[in-house]
Amino acid sequence: MIVLNLTCANSHEFEGWFASAAEFSRQAGIQLVSCPYCNDFCITRLPSGPHVKRTAVEAGKAGDVVSALIELAQHSDNVGAQFPEEARKIHYQEIEPRNIRGVASSSEVKALIEEGIAVLPLPLPPKDKAH
Ligand SMILES: [Zn+2]
Repeated sequence: MIVLNLTCANSHEFEGWFASAAEFSRQAGIQLVSCPYCNDFCITRLPSGPHVKRTAVEAGKAGDVVSALIELAQHSDNVGAQFPEEARKIHYQEIEPRNIRGVASSSEVKALIEEGIAVLPLPLPPKDKAH
């Protein structure tokens, strides 16, 4: 079990106990988590606070990130060096949206973020070669 610091749309803060961070995401996604003060269903996680058992929360968080990355890597097209171009096309709706991965220099990544394009620099080296 992990303790998560949660907040509702009305900024009420409270703690929730969950089997894992992923379990919280699942329950919050289908509106099983509500604010004890106002019953609001728009619940989000706060960064860990003084009452949180830090190790448990951080372990949960790290597990989440890793599984999200693996998920992303398995369900995305490898566009290799075309990544910045493809990401822009998707952002500006020139092509069908899809998950892509590829390579981009840090300056290209910075430029994409400045244009408001959501990119996630992956720490994992791509296993397959770019096309
Ligand atoms: Zn509330």
